[in-house]
Amino acid sequence: MTTRDFPEWSGEKAEYVEPTQVVRSFGYDVFANPISDEAMQYNNDTFTCVLAVEGEVAENVQHYDNQTAASEDIKKQAQIFGSIRTGITHVNQTYVYKGQELPHQYAIMLAVPMEYDEMKYGATERHVKEVLKAYADGGKTAVALAEYIRSRGYPALAHSLRFEQLMMLPHAIAAGLGELGRHGSLINRELGCSFRLACVTTDLPMLVDSPVDEGIDDVCMNCNMCTEHCPGDAITSEKQEIRGDYRWLIDTESCAPYWGSYFSCGICLEVCPFNARALDGKYKKSFVERIKSIDSKERSQELKDALQTPWQHVKKPDDKNSGWRNRVRGKGETAILQGGVPTQGLPEVIYSLRDRMGMPR
Ligand code: SF4
Ligand code: SF4
Repeated sequence: MTTRDFPEWSGEKAEYVEPTQVVRSFGYDVFANPISDEAMQYNNDTFTCVLAVEGEVAENVQHYDNQTAASEDIKKQAQIFGSIRTGITHVNQTYVYKGQELPHQYAIMLAVPMEYDEMKYGATERHVKEVLKAYADGGKTAVALAEYIRSRGYPALAHSLRFEQLMMLPHAIAAGLGELGRHGSLINRELGCSFRLACVTTDLPMLVDSPVDEGIDDVCMNCNMCTEHCPGDAITSEKQEIRGDYRWLIDTESCAPYWGSYFSCGICLEVCPFNARALDGKYKKSFVERIKSIDSKERSQELKDALQTPWQHVKKPDDKNSGWRNRVRGKGETAILQGGVPTQGLPEVIYSLRDRMGMPR
């Protein structure tokens, strides 16, 4: 892959940018290829749950006997609401986004499953539909769990795809939900990488979990499937130092043309062998058949040849508080995120990225 510095990861706090806008900042329109009504409905659901991230806290507190009882009940409820695996950790302010106020002490990390037999069609509408479904499910799960906690008299806030005040990955790792794979997504032995994250933060005192070592990093050190199949040459062959951690990293600028042009791509997830080992080998045959059917070089070339031509100009917002930022608090217009080329309402970090890439504002 192309070697370059990653100044956005140099130690300064990251700024939350809604994912659709991240890709659009690089000049790609994620809605250029039409998606089915079903997928669009899931997409709309990811926005709808933002309207319910916060709410009234019941006046009477229903105490638990102890922190163990609290964490057990919360995990049980999370499962009922849709989380296939739940971990609890402390909120780490290092990984709270710049400019966000998050006073809560605990983060409940929720894993929402995806169906590998849909995920395996990377760079197609079928893939993105499953991703959007998982994010919509994750948002609903987080909203329902936050409501439950508030009904017991404790504050709680739901975080999901379109509204996150904290970085999900480092909190999920701390909560024992898995290890970071070379492809930049979380992997655990039980689920492979066929799941997405959501979160609830709260002050309800609970027993916290610990990070796990399931030997995943060792496998990644010797497996190059995602690197070899990535059409954008965007997956690092060596770990990089990021905010004091030595870890895998995706070159987002190399990934973006494919992610933005082809239904959030996901080829790196499709080819990850941990999916074949997950769920007691449920998808092993399907995985092997899929891998055998793909000529990675041919597919990469096809995708490269048909990439979108990125647009060059975006317009700086007149009002920094307009557009996407209001939307994530449940105000503003969804149209800014869903339709057409964005010309306004982008956060400042977008313009810094474009400056660095030599793209005009
Ligand atoms: S494809 Fe291989 S190297 Fe990439 S994340 Fe999966 S196991 Fe790790
Ligand atoms: S989403 Fe596609 S382009 Fe991006 S890192 Fe994964 S395989 Fe590469």
